[in-house]
Amino acid sequence: MKTIQADITTLHVDAIVNAANTSLLGGGGVDGAIHRAAGPGLLEECRTLGGCAVGDAKLTKGYNLPAKFVIHTVGPRWRGGTAGESEKLASCYRRCLQIAKENGIQTIAFPAISTGVYGYPIEEATRIAVTTCRDFLKRQAVAIEVTFCCFSGRDLAVYENVMQKA
Ligand code: ADP
Repeated sequence: MKTIQADITTLHVDAIVNAANTSLLGGGGVDGAIHRAAGPGLLEECRTLGGCAVGDAKLTKGYNLPAKFVIHTVGPRWRGGTAGESEKLASCYRRCLQIAKENGIQTIAFPAISTGVYGYPIEEATRIAVTTCRDFLKRQAVAIEVTFCCFSGRDLAVYENVMQKA
């Protein structure tokens, strides 16, 4: 597992993860950036998927992106921490890795799911991202190369700190 600072739409990996909303029909933040870079084919395929539940994930092709696939997942909105947010966020990471495993995806990049518009505190979200991915890879004994892709230098510093401690 490694952490980088980058625009996730530029990464040459088998799959990038999209922090989508339940409609899967596009939005702001990383979702908007991915749809812009992928082109209209992505939205067309997303329209056939019937949305996605919070904590679940769905696979599409990557269209004009350098990544071959996009795994769309829907993180929880932060509601103070007592509405099952941590379990739902962990489920996002597990479902994405499960789909990667089932489809022979060997390299995957995650954005910091739920920490933008959905308001999840970055330190807690990062701890969940790192520990959930680490546990999944250990338990499933799969060799998927996981990259945590931070948009800001501030997020990168948090990830580096958590990776050292966790
Ligand atoms: P959510 O609704 O799940 O909070 P956002 O897209 O608002 O999703 O934010 C999730 C994270 O994605 C934030 O850390 C934000 O800074 C980051 N982000 C936004 N654009 C990009 C991008 N092009 N590449 C990587 N990360 C991005």
